[in-house]
Amino acid sequence: MSMTFFIDTTRCTACRGCQIACKEWHDFKSNETRQRGTHQNPPDLNPLNYKLVRFAEYKENGRVVWYFLPEQCRHCEAPPCKEAADSHVEGAIIRDDATGAVIFTEKTQKLTPAQMKDVITNCPYNIPRLDKVKGILTKCDMCIDRVRNNMLPMCVKTCCTGAMNFGERSKMLELANQRLAELKKKCPNAQLQDPEDVNVIYLLTDAPKKYYQTVNG
Ligand code: SF4
Ligand code: SF4
Ligand code: SF4
Repeated sequence: MSMTFFIDTTRCTACRGCQIACKEWHDFKSNETRQRGTHQNPPDLNPLNYKLVRFAEYKENGRVVWYFLPEQCRHCEAPPCKEAADSHVEGAIIRDDATGAVIFTEKTQKLTPAQMKDVITNCPYNIPRLDKVKGILTKCDMCIDRVRNNMLPMCVKTCCTGAMNFGERSKMLELANQRLAELKKKCPNAQLQDPEDVNVIYLLTDAPKKYYQTVNG
């Protein structure tokens, strides 16, 4: 069985509560930061931010339009990062049988720098980040310690708008398809991002690329 997130971006207010809750649960210190002229801060995922609320802003048809994306590892059904790691060291990345969580292990952290780079470049969602100080690979761990104890992932627990949902895959797929059908009535380009391939399913109002805007570091 896989546990799945359904992230309804139409309900996300970019409050960043999930981003901070993730840091608190993992006991990560704050990032040194500065104002870059955007709400997206820090500018990208990093070893202290397994979750990043992306914030893209455009002028469309004379109106300002915002796109918010609380980004994290997708816990892929057939994870390319795992395939890459396994080609070097069998079992270096595991997919937890009970939850479907894709977990970096001690073996992951013993891969050579070139092998770690291979893991990074094989992720289709550009998620893993190298902690250059510790020499380790980092990403969202599904709050596996909480989930194994029947608690919600911290980001889901914190979100009060209904944007973040978590549960059995079949139930989350049902909810996602129901919300997509509703949204399609007013947003014809609405879509679920790769629902067959991942266990973090995003409902988007438009093409995924619209949610990514370069932020100057
Ligand atoms: Fe969006 Fe919920 Fe995260 Fe706030 S806590 S940024 S509403 S997903
Ligand atoms: Fe691996 Fe990337 Fe999929 Fe996460 S999103 S499971 S890091 S391939
Ligand atoms: Fe962070 Fe846990 Fe949410 Fe992953 S599931 S983004 S580790 S709070």
